[in-house]
Amino acid sequence: MIDTSHFPKAKKIWFMGEFHDWSELTLHSMTHALHYGTSVFEGIRAYSTSRGPAVFRLPDHIDRFLYSAGAARMTPPYGKDEIIRAVLDTIRENGVEACYIRPLYFYSYGNLGLVPKASPVQLVIAVWEWGAYLGEKAEQGVSVCLVPQRRIHYSQLDMRAKLGGIYVQSTIAGLDARARGCDEAVFLNIEGRIAEGPGENVFIVKDGIVKTNERSESVLEGITRTSILEVAADIGFKTAVGPITKADFLAADEAFFTGTAVEIVPIIGAKDHSDGTLRRETVRLGSGAAGPTTLRIRAAYLGLVRGENPRYEKWLSRL
Ligand code: PMP
Repeated sequence: MIDTSHFPKAKKIWFMGEFHDWSELTLHSMTHALHYGTSVFEGIRAYSTSRGPAVFRLPDHIDRFLYSAGAARMTPPYGKDEIIRAVLDTIRENGVEACYIRPLYFYSYGNLGLVPKASPVQLVIAVWEWGAYLGEKAEQGVSVCLVPQRRIHYSQLDMRAKLGGIYVQSTIAGLDARARGCDEAVFLNIEGRIAEGPGENVFIVKDGIVKTNERSESVLEGITRTSILEVAADIGFKTAVGPITKADFLAADEAFFTGTAVEIVPIIGAKDHSDGTLRRETVRLGSGAAGPTTLRIRAAYLGLVRGENPRYEKWLSRL
């Protein structure tokens, strides 16, 4: 048996149309994606609602998944409807309600040249119970490190796609931020403005305006981000989309992360290592505690994903 302590409730994994015991599925170590990051993936959440589990924006996630496969020049063996069905089947098969869902397309075993001419594209879908991505305490707010490395530019790789290889940069920055005593990293882009977290979008609130950036700032335009822009406007907040400078971020009244895994997490402090300086103090962001706008948006989001607001039933796929 393999250790599943970081994958609570994972029992069966879907691989190319069949369920396997979580502990049993094996892949060859010469799998192409393992060597070159030649995979694409999605991160999706299902929530427990009064009418059973519901997956948040499943068709939108699968559209992005197939977009990512195209960006990696894959010819995917399964299309949208089949993948949606397989995701719902996997949740059912594992008997989980609130869970994280990870579909992965990857160039598999065949050859090891950079061009995967004999490596077929294969699909795996895993589900497990994954709690707060940055830990339970993150709800009160996290401190971030503005890391020295600049986010990969949109002209270098298609940042609308969730390409496995892009996340090497995320992993390194996440480790560096923690080594510097912060909870998470934030990348600047090549232009020197705020880009995104390793797996999160960044929002700021200034003078009542809820603002985030967009694709041209070298960020993945997250599905949570897009949802929050709509929810914030529905609540009655003014919203804006455009570049966020480092000065805007450091002088914001509030800041927060959004993402499927992280959900909504207040950012309450920052260390600016973006110029490569090793020793830096943490500066307070806003009041140094989760702000009122962030908390209202967070409560609205956590309610709607749990099916508590009929207005957003459109975003839920039920089993
Ligand atoms: N940026 C990056 C780099 C991410 O990996 C993610 C997580 N998918 C996000 C932003 C947030 O996207 P979403 O809200 O679609 O999860």
